[in-house]
Amino acid sequence: MSAMRIVLLGPPGAGKGTQAAALTQWLGVPHVSTGDMLRAAVKAGTPIGLKAKAVMDAGELVSDAIVIGIAEERLSEDDAKVGFLLDGFPRTWVQAEALEALLDRLDLSIDVCLTLTLDNEAVVTRLLKRAEIEGRADDQEETIRERLRVYAKETAPLLAFYRGRNLLTEVSGMGTVDEVADRIRAALG
Ligand code: AMP
Repeated sequence: MSAMRIVLLGPPGAGKGTQAAALTQWLGVPHVSTGDMLRAAVKAGTPIGLKAKAVMDAGELVSDAIVIGIAEERLSEDDAKVGFLLDGFPRTWVQAEALEALLDRLDLSIDVCLTLTLDNEAVVTRLLKRAEIEGRADDQEETIRERLRVYAKETAPLLAFYRGRNLLTEVSGMGTVDEVADRIRAALG
């Protein structure tokens, strides 16, 4: 298969991280998660981590400038030449345009934007369960609801961004991990 560049969209708790892990193995491309990179920066106490921590804990978005910077740096690494799966980036219209501009400069483009759909109550149930298992600071119920509001306001418009470019593929995130994985593979062909 030629290089595959995928954007994975969907509300928090839709299963992006879980599906991305399986999918990147299947496709042989790196899993690029800005959330993972930011959590690593927080843990390491870097200047970016120090800035991002309170924002992340509150369920708000880290500034476009910071996130675009780390995403661009990561996508410029050698292993991303075979393609990549972006998980959690872009999350705003500005980020989507920055990504498109970056890829334009490299004479590349996104092949598909895969979006996992899940209703809000299913999201809250899943994330509360994840909170028990992983102990993420932003998986408290109030923060989960704030992240859903942020998703609806800032990120959901990106569905139109990618639909307008004929790149959008919607897959239901309901059901088991395997069921969703099968649906994704079928959708990617
Ligand atoms: P995630 O693991 O993708 O759910 O991201 C966890 C948190 O990291 C988000 O709630 C945001 O605070 C921050 N974050 C991750 N990716 C982005 C992004 N592309 N833009 C802004 N903030 C982000």
